Amino acid sequence: MTLADLQPKIFQEFHHILKTGRLSHAYLFSGNFGSYEMALFLAQSQFCENLQDSLPCGQCRECRLIAERDFSDVKVIEPQGNVIKTDTIRELLRDFTRSGFEGKSQVFIIRDADKMHINAANSLLKFIEEPQSSSYMILLTSDESKVLPTIKSRCQIFRFPKNQEYLKNRLEQNGLLKAKASLIAAVADDEASALALTEMTKFDDLCRSLEKFIAGLDKDPDQSFLQVTRLASLVTDKAEQDLAFKLLLVMLGRTRQPRQVTKVYQARQMWLSNVSFQNVLEYMVLE
Ligand SMILES: [Zn+2]
Repeated sequence: MTLADLQPKIFQEFHHILKTGRLSHAYLFSGNFGSYEMALFLAQSQFCENLQDSLPCGQCRECRLIAERDFSDVKVIEPQGNVIKTDTIRELLRDFTRSGFEGKSQVFIIRDADKMHINAANSLLKFIEEPQSSSYMILLTSDESKVLPTIKSRCQIFRFPKNQEYLKNRLEQNGLLKAKASLIAAVADDEASALALTEMTKFDDLCRSLEKFIAGLDKDPDQSFLQVTRLASLVTDKAEQDLAFKLLLVMLGRTRQPRQVTKVYQARQMWLSNVSFQNVLEYMVLE
């Protein structure tokens, strides 16, 4: 996998930014699709000993240490549990100020930045407003709406859209049949979740059952009802049930049944407001 395949447009933009030496001090990368890889790549670009056309080589000692997250001037912060603590950010900023005085270049990457405690986010603001000349901060989030507006307005924002075609090819290279690869590529949010779905043992059963459920909707309600029971025992937790809705939408979208697509949206809304999965599927058949 290369970033140029994963996010061709963003890759080109950053190539240009690096060539012209215009890297900003604070970025917000929104979306999971290659954003972390891009952040590490930019970090490598600041330390690589063998830059090629302004791009890091990926092979030298510096590049490798950064990729292994074992390089002292590139720090990656992640939530512990469900939150990034204020102390973690304060300590990070202290380290940075110290090295800043020594004139060293530094990059820090904060994953799931939306999980920063509000005090942590506030202590970052000062850093963003008065950056050291050679320090860079890259915030990553999969939910931009949860990032404080004060932070967002001070960062350059790049959005990393899902690259479905890339995912599909990647899954086919892994030996998946075309049809399954394209289905998984359509429902997965990113590469990791796509690969997880290929390992999901009940995935094929689930798809077969959903297909029968859909086929019965207009012609044979009894068949659909039969599948409701089957589906309810097959997908028991919320994440799996959500996957079932996503699959339904993709499958119905392909068979061009707009009326049924609307029903799935309604059913999902009911499910989100705590009507059981089984009941909302029954509603779909009865409606
Ligand atoms: Zn290198």
